[in-house]
Amino acid sequence: MKQINTKIKQTLVFLITLALLLTMTAAPVTSFAGEKTGNIVNIKDKKYSYSDMETDLKQFVKTYPDIVALESLGKTADKRKIYCLRMGNPKAKKQIIVQAGIHAREWLNCQMLMKSVERYLVNYKTGKYNKMTYEEIFDQVTVYVIPMVNPDGVTISQYGINKIKNKTLRKKLKKMKRYGSYKRWKANARGVDLNRNFPASWGRKKAEKKPASQGYPGKKAKSEKETQAVLKLIKRMSNLKACVNFHSRGELIYWGAVGNGTARKNAYKLAKTIKKTNGYKLVDESKTYGAGGDLERYFIAKKKIPYVCVETGKENCPLKHKSFSGIYKKNKTVIEKTARLYCKPKK
Ligand SMILES: [Zn+2]
Repeated sequence: MKQINTKIKQTLVFLITLALLLTMTAAPVTSFAGEKTGNIVNIKDKKYSYSDMETDLKQFVKTYPDIVALESLGKTADKRKIYCLRMGNPKAKKQIIVQAGIHAREWLNCQMLMKSVERYLVNYKTGKYNKMTYEEIFDQVTVYVIPMVNPDGVTISQYGINKIKNKTLRKKLKKMKRYGSYKRWKANARGVDLNRNFPASWGRKKAEKKPASQGYPGKKAKSEKETQAVLKLIKRMSNLKACVNFHSRGELIYWGAVGNGTARKNAYKLAKTIKKTNGYKLVDESKTYGAGGDLERYFIAKKKIPYVCVETGKENCPLKHKSFSGIYKKNKTVIEKTARLYCKPKK
């Protein structure tokens, strides 16, 4: 009898442990870094792909239809959508743009940005910054997020060129000059470095004269669908206040402005705010000319709107997944702090 009892006990213990383990692995991560962050974007996913992002974006809209809206700004050469998520009051008088993944291998930032957005959605009514709830902040400033500007390139960096569907593109990709393995890919699927393709000092430095894994500015400015998509969004804004662009690596914040007037003051204000948030080092690009055709040059010289290029991470790209939580913690509040700068002072 005693033996049977022990056996039953053992079986019970085993079953309970099994059940616990099963629920633990099935249970979504709803809290991270000590706060509610939702269960849509999986932070354990070590290779956050275009299709993961697409699924999550659609789930955002389904779960939070009153807060967000999704649109495609265009399609890439390999027919992936360039998604843009709008968060907050669509009729707000001010807007900011936040984006990630313009350089293929810097894709960890896409997941980081998506998780940051989900954190706002989960805590929309209760989360606060500087005496205002998120709802109040995003009621005054609409946020436009392009979480993955270069989905074809990200696909190449994550899976190699076999995941490129178009045969002609694949053929051309095989012949392109490459710096390192496909993991290190930076350009889009046409071998154009998108952050050299904007219409501001375009082609000043032609690191590459032909399509390559990095450094080629394209046949002409705005030749690429991804560049056109970003420009289309910028053009539509009625009162764009700032643009934050996540890159990797170096833990730096590039910023700049033309002249010494208000534009510089405003640009510095944004840069300082981001520095306070993530502790990265400021680099003033006002007096340098950069590579040309970069989005920062376009904002500094043409739009004269505050811009920061935030370089996350330390090691070579693609960044390792173990860096995710540190980068997320340092940058998760960048959006609220940027938007809050342009809110009316609270009485
Ligand atoms: Zn970059």
